[in-house]
Amino acid sequence: MRILVVEDEVRLADYLRKGLSESGYVVDLAHDGIDGLHFAVEGSYDLVILDVMLPGKDGFEVLASLRSRRKTPVLMLTARDAVEDRVKGLTEGADDYLGKPFSFSELLARVQALLRRGASGGDSQGATLLRLDDLEVDLARRRATRAGKRLELTPKEFNLLVLLLRRRGEVLTRTVLAEQVWDINFDSDTNVVEVAVRRLRSKLDEPFESKLLHTVRGMGYVLERRQE
Ligand code: CA
Repeated sequence: MRILVVEDEVRLADYLRKGLSESGYVVDLAHDGIDGLHFAVEGSYDLVILDVMLPGKDGFEVLASLRSRRKTPVLMLTARDAVEDRVKGLTEGADDYLGKPFSFSELLARVQALLRRGASGGDSQGATLLRLDDLEVDLARRRATRAGKRLELTPKEFNLLVLLLRRRGEVLTRTVLAEQVWDINFDSDTNVVEVAVRRLRSKLDEPFESKLLHTVRGMGYVLERRQE
């Protein structure tokens, strides 16, 4: 899951990046509205966190331009008690807002709720469950189980599993996985993918009879149920 943070207060932006990265998201930063809009339109993000007061273009201008081109969910950061900003943001296409100052846990809860909504296409709670064979992944609780047994995954392993599961049956290359899960764009660094896949496999497949995560030699990895 990739998140773009558009925030000109560098310390706050860095703090958000650190916290969100620790929660398993890939985070890009933009420090003004012009870069922010450019990244949001050109990049492929699951969510944009957008400050209202920005140099270059303010958050509302960025939102308006973005909305004419993309449906990426937007969480706006507004000044405390700026009720007009909130109303304006929501009527102009923001998906949620958070007044400053906020706690990180509050932000994370909003982020997770928006991503859930996006993932389920606005469906009911049930759509936050992904299943394949006896594997079940609960996106809301960030829990994965096989045959009812909890898999103890790190945030990166969890995100890797979700990506493979969302695109089940499709061979995903190391480069794609490196980009989507680790924000790494160099082939030389995709060794981290191999290491993580090995760890994920030891938890996901080794204890169980049927194997779900398969290596497609020379290409990448695919998650699917195969007849043994
Ligand atoms: Ca600001």
